[in-house]
Formats: sequence, C-alpha cells, structure tokens
Amino acid sequence: MIRILNRLIKKHLSKLSADQGVKNFITDIEDVFKQQKEEKEFMERTLTLSFEELNQINASLKENLAENRENHRKLEKIVAKQNALFDASTEAVFSFSNDSVIEKMNQAGIEFLNISPDEYDENEVHTCDLFMARIANVDKFNHDIDEIRHNSDARIHGFFDTVDSKHYEYYSVPEVVDGDFIGRVWCCRDITNIRENEALLKHQANHDALTDLPNRVMILDALNHAISLSNRHNTLVGVLFIDLDDFKKINDTAGHHEGDRYLIEFAQRVKSALKNGDIIGRLGGDEFVVIVEGINDVLDIIQINERILALCEKPFYIKDKKYYMSCSVGVGISPDDAVDAEELIRKADMAMYQAKKSGKNTYHFFDDKLDKIALESVLLESQLREAINNDEFILHFQPKFELENGNICGVEALIRWQKTPEQLICPDDFIPAAEKNGLIRDITYWLVEKACKTMVSWQNTSMANIPISLNISALDFSDLNFTTQVASLIDQYQIDSSLLEFELTESIFFDDIVQVQQTIATLKSRKIKISIDDFGTGFSSFAYLRDIDIDYLKIDRSFVQNVHQDRKSHAIVKSIIDVGINLGVEVVAEGVESELEMNLLAAEGCHIGQGYFMSKPVNEKALCTFIEQRL
Ligand code: C2E
Ligand code: CA
Ligand code: CA
Repeated sequence: MIRILNRLIKKHLSKLSADQGVKNFITDIEDVFKQQKEEKEFMERTLTLSFEELNQINASLKENLAENRENHRKLEKIVAKQNALFDASTEAVFSFSNDSVIEKMNQAGIEFLNISPDEYDENEVHTCDLFMARIANVDKFNHDIDEIRHNSDARIHGFFDTVDSKHYEYYSVPEVVDGDFIGRVWCCRDITNIRENEALLKHQANHDALTDLPNRVMILDALNHAISLSNRHNTLVGVLFIDLDDFKKINDTAGHHEGDRYLIEFAQRVKSALKNGDIIGRLGGDEFVVIVEGINDVLDIIQINERILALCEKPFYIKDKKYYMSCSVGVGISPDDAVDAEELIRKADMAMYQAKKSGKNTYHFFDDKLDKIALESVLLESQLREAINNDEFILHFQPKFELENGNICGVEALIRWQKTPEQLICPDDFIPAAEKNGLIRDITYWLVEKACKTMVSWQNTSMANIPISLNISALDFSDLNFTTQVASLIDQYQIDSSLLEFELTESIFFDDIVQVQQTIATLKSRKIKISIDDFGTGFSSFAYLRDIDIDYLKIDRSFVQNVHQDRKSHAIVKSIIDVGINLGVEVVAEGVESELEMNLLAAEGCHIGQGYFMSKPVNEKALCTFIEQRL
C-alpha cells in the first residue's frame, strides 16, 4: 500500500517533492500506513492464536462430552440394575420421605400393603398410615422404634407381626445426602415360615414323636419350674413315675405297631384323669411321668394314683382282642423328697420299683410314711362307702338364737359318723377325705334327705317350723345334678322348703361364678335360704356379695373368739355386721363361747348367735328336750 502510494506520489506530485511540507505530509502518511500495517499484522497474529485456542477448547469439550455420555450411560446402567434389584427383592422395601410419605416401594411393598397391583397408582400419595395399618400390635411397634424419633440417624432392626398373623423382621436405615437427612428406607422380610419351622423344631425337640407328649427335656424343665413355684407358694409338687406292667408281652404278641397304639391310648386315658395344669410326659418306652403342682395335701396325689390305677380296669382293645393292662406308679414329693427335678424323678423311679416288687398294679411313695397315709386314706374311702350303704351317719343339731330376745330361730345340722356304738367320728375327720374322693356327693344327698325326713317327723310337734341349716360342700355346687336332686327330695317329702337353709363357704366362688349364680337362683326359686359360712376366712370379695342374693352372713368362729378382748377381732366383727346390715342381710356369729362375747355381739347389732355358751351340738332327742324346756 505504501509502495503504491509512493509511486502515485512520485508520478503526480514529482514537481512538489522538493517542497518540505509535502515531504512531511508524505512521511506522516507513510507513518500512518506503517502503523496500520503493524496493527493489521498484530490483529492477524492474534486471530491466528485465538483460532488455535478455540480449536483446542473445542477438542477438549468434545472429549468432556464423550466422557459425560459414558458416565451417563454408566449411571443409567446402575439405576436400572438397582431398580431391577429393588423390584426383584422379595423383601418389602419402602422409601419414606421426611414427612412420612412413601416415595417409592417395590412390588413386595405393594403386596405388603395389601394393594392389588391393578389398583396401584404410582402417582397417588401413600402415607405411612397405610403401613401402620398392617401392624398387629402398634403400641409395641411404636415403642420398639422409639429410637428413631429422637435420633434420625439411627439404624434399627426389629420384629413385628401383621394383622393377618404374619411375622416380619425389619431394618430401617436413614437416607442422607451431603450430611442432610432426606428420608428413611425400610426393608421388611416375611419370616413367618422361619418362625413356624423354629416352633416346629422346638416342639419336636421337646415332645415325644409317638404320643406328642412332653419328652424328658421338657419334663425336666417343667418340673424345675414347678419346684421353684411351689417353693415360693409353699405348696407341694408330686411326681408320678408310671411304668406299664408287662408291656413287653403286648409288643411280643401283637407287634410293635399295636404296642404303639396301646401307648397312645394309655397316655390319653391318663391325660383325661388329670386336672388342668397337671402335666403328663413320656420318658421313653413304657415310662410316663406326671407332674402335679400346687397341692397342699398328699391326699390329692393319692386320689390321682387311685384314678390312674382305675383307668386300667377298663379293657384295651388291640386287633379286636381284649387286653387288661396295669401299671405301677412311684411317687416323689417335693420339697420333702428332693428339690431338684432329676433327683425327684429318680426317687419316684425308685418308688416305682417298690411298687413293681410288691406285686405291680399298685403305687408306692418314696417316703414310707406317705404309704401309710395312702393306705389309711384308701381304707377310709372304702369304710365311708360302707358307711353310706349301712346308714352309719347321724345328725347333731346346734340351736341358733336371736341375740335381741334369746329366742331360738333355727338349728344347724352337723353330721357325725357313728362307726361303732362307741366310736363317734367328727366331720373334720372324714368330710375333707370325702370331698377329695367324691363321696361327698352321696353324703350330701344323705344329708338333705335326712333333713327332709327330720322335718317331716317334726311336723305337728313343738319342733315344727324350726328352720334347719345344712352344710353344703363346694363340690356339691359344681355338680350339675345337685339342684335337681334337692328339688326332687323336697317334692318327695313335701316339706316346707322355706325352712331349709344351705350354708356355703366362700370356696364355691372359686368355681365358675355364672354357674354358681344359676345354682343359687334355682335354690332360691325353691325358697331355700342361703348363708355364707366361715365368712372372712375365704377370699371375702365384695363382688359376690353384690352379685349374689344371700340371706345370712356367718362370721367365722376365729373372729368371734375373744371378740371382747381382741381389738382387731372386734373391729372385723363390727365391720362384717355393718356390711350385713347395709346389705339387708342377717348376720350370724358362730362359736360364741362366753356371755361377754355374746353381749358384745348383741351390742354391736349382730342378729343371731350360736355357740357352746348357748348350746353345744346335741342329738335330736336332747334338742327336743332343750327346746321343750324353753317353751
Ligand atoms: P362349721 O360349719 O363351721 O360348723 C361349726 C363347727 O363349730 C361345728 O363343728 C360345731 O360343733 C363347732 N362349734 C359350734 N359352736 C362352737 C363353739 O362355741 N366353740 C367351738 N370351738 N366350736 C363350736 P363340727 O360339728 O365338728 O363340724 C366341723 C365342720 O365340719 C363344720 O364346720 C362343717 O364345715 C363341717 N360339717 C359338719 N357337718 C357337715 C355336713 O353335714 N356336710 C358338710 N359338707 N360339712 C359338714
Ligand atoms: Ca356351718
Ligand atoms: Ca362355720
């Protein structure tokens, strides 16, 4: 450009070239052009540089993009794998947001919530209420997961049951992003089968496969438990070691299969002879063990022994053939014979050998003293049976007096056993045994019939219209025939049943209260009066006083004794009288032995008194004389 300009200047301005001004002008122009040229060259260099840089950046961007695409692909793969894993899991998995909304759940989760897959809508809001509705014991579950309420970072593990009786194990872990808690994941695993298998295994480990009875392991466990309980409650535990007599013969003649059937039937028979709570187990072979706990009296064990021996009196049928089998029983009692399960069983086993030695089909106690008691008890039972058949019982009568005026208002019939002309046995010596062996039912029947006969014989005498009270055992009350028998006796003898009074102890209320209420209502419908005997010594619950219609409360003798001297007895007697008065029930004090006692009772408002001070129980003849003298 400068060169072209120079040439043009030389061509057109050659004449002016000598002029300094023109020279300067040309030089300036040349400078401007030079500067322009330099700037242009600089620009060109800069452009070249930028272009290279851009190329480089472009290349690196391209590289980054490729890397990102690869990463994205990898991420997609991971998410896909995780989703597949999530859905393939048989565990119910839930992801909860911070505000307890289920953000995500898998197929098993949907099933867990009992939502049918067709109804499931991913966009619907599912709250944790849906989850909680599935849990059976919400209170316990809430208690178990309490930790996460205080500590959102907590990872917890536990178990719950569902409303449809399934068992679940759960894990709950927090979801944290950059240190921020954003929710919680719950995994719930159905362990119902595991639990059932565990229970089955446990059952198998503790039970005999043939009879399904507890085996030695469980028997030892149960026995140790029973012993420690009896220690605490001061009761006895009896262990009966039962061994079948000549069982080998059955196996040898009828075969093992029939032998097994026999063992199963024997076990069922023994079970039927036991009370609820008694345990029968099989130690193996033909050896069984029975645990009887919570007893106070060896008489109870004697009764069970007798029942078990009696079970074998009924024949067993094997392949339509009749077999009579028997067994030998050995008895150990804790704490007297041993305080350890193994030792107690060993001692019962030793006693069983004694039973075998003395001819089989019998029982023996480890402690010889108890054998004597057992013998006496069995003897007493057979003598009582005879006494019932031979009409060896008699009644004595003890009058009751209105404390206000001293008038006789009734008599209590008290049974005695005239065993021989010289030997009169008191009820305390045979009634408890009769209650244990069930003979009390026959005795009570005799008693009610005798009372009816007595009333008939008193008609048209000075004794007519004297109420007779009878002591009725709690056992009679659990007998469904009792009221029918009483009613038929009343009808048979045509007596005025409003003159009959039944004295019942509070122990009747240990039985089914509804049945007791019904029995009492039936008796009352026949106008029979009801009295609660020995009041204050049983469980004296106000509930039954409210629920049952009674006529008399009879204060137990132990409170009446020295009531004028003993401050506490006085307070109790006074309170019972108050309760009676407030309920509109007459209060009877039994066992009045002195004038001082009688006067205090009268002063406190007690209605009726009975006791040696006024009259001892006397026979019928003496009673007649006593009453006639007072007329
Ligand atoms: P229970 O029903 O408490 O009868 C009162 C007992 O106290 C009677 O004894 C009576 O003789 C006695 N007794 C009466 N007044 C006094 C007294 O002032 N002081 C003392 N220390 N005792 C007195 P019993 O006749 O020996 O009868 C004892 C228990 O036998 C009766 O106690 C009753 O539970 C039961 N019993 C009596 N007869 C029968 C009956 O026919 N059937 C049933 N199941 N039990 C009966
Ligand atoms: Ca009584
Ligand atoms: Ca009494």
